[in-house]
Amino acid sequence: ICYQECDLAEIVRSCLADYALALEERNIRLKSVIPSGPCIVLGDSSQLKQVCINLIVNAQEAVGKDGSLDVVLSTAEERGKTCAIVSFSDSGGGIPEDVITKIFTPFFTTKRHGTGLGLAIVNRIIQNHDGVLKVNNVAAGAEFRVILPLASRV
Ligand code: ADP
Ligand code: MG
Repeated sequence: ICYQECDLAEIVRSCLADYALALEERNIRLKSVIPSGPCIVLGDSSQLKQVCINLIVNAQEAVGKDGSLDVVLSTAEERGKTCAIVSFSDSGGGIPEDVITKIFTPFFTTKRHGTGLGLAIVNRIIQNHDGVLKVNNVAAGAEFRVILPLASRV
């Protein structure tokens, strides 16, 4: 695979724009904090878009109707590298303890018509990008954090 410099800020913004109407129709309040400047990572932009889409769709399905989705892009030191962190936190009620250990397993789903592939794909893509995917429960729901090393500018 040939990874290129891509702007994660632009990728996240464009995915949110694609889902803004769907979220609004479900009365899911979207709050996003994305730095105005670029946030450059080495990657495949269509795969990174897929990551964002899968996480937005899961949040939307968890909330159902009337709730919130917060998306925040920031940078921090992780494992000795400067990384971009994209946090998706929803008000969908969170993930039970016995479920959270299985959600990255292909075909694991708690939905009647789920494929159970969304998070397995997200996790694989992030790993291929030398990143990490973290999940935890927050106040009203689940938070997924995509952590990707920033491209080092020489
Ligand atoms: P699917 O969406 O087809 O079920 P995924 O791999 O995307 O497959 O997700 C696997 C499971 O992880 C879901 O069935 C659900 O139980 C849980 N899950 C994923 N995202 C969330 C979320 N935002 N809130 C609560 N549970 C979630
Ligand atoms: Mg899914």
